[in-house]
Amino acid sequence: MIRKIVQKENPILRQKALEVEKNHITSYEIQNLITSMIETMRAAPGVGLAAPQIGVALQVVVIEDKEEYFIDMLSEIKVERGRKPIPLHVMINPKVTFLVNEKTYFFEGCLSVNGCSRITPRVKKIKVEYFNEKGEHKEVIADGWYARIIQHETDHLKGILFTDISNNKSEISNTTENRNKWLNAKAVDIEKYLKICES
Ligand code: ZN
Repeated sequence: MIRKIVQKENPILRQKALEVEKNHITSYEIQNLITSMIETMRAAPGVGLAAPQIGVALQVVVIEDKEEYFIDMLSEIKVERGRKPIPLHVMINPKVTFLVNEKTYFFEGCLSVNGCSRITPRVKKIKVEYFNEKGEHKEVIADGWYARIIQHETDHLKGILFTDISNNKSEISNTTENRNKWLNAKAVDIEKYLKICES
């Protein structure tokens, strides 16, 4: 069932989400939650969704990045940003470890912060340990855009929104014009723009 996505004023987005008990992962309740989250993410559409965004303060995240979402991005930009299709998967009780100090900067938006994007720093390479929807322990090394999605979604589980860690002067409205303007921007251009915002 497609659920309503709560917006930034909702206090649930500021709570710390609770861990799911391992033997509860395969329960009807959690499986039903996962199904609703997938349907809601795809309908939005978005590349990720955290359970608090549909009003459930549990550590569950769904992620899926489809090629059709960035079909008009130049190949060289895909390579630079590390954007590639990510098949649908579920992360329960994810634990993120930063593997490098280096950060990457790009516009980021959120289904719970309607209408705007801001340049948001994210660590370039991370490790995530989590349980999948079957309760199996998994570990993944992520970089590029995938690492950004994971950091964004796992921040939701800690009550953090991208607007907490981004430069507010870099805010743009989510119009088609702005999307097209920045879609194929190089990292150096983003960093140049960010410097202007910071000055
Ligand atoms: Zn979000």
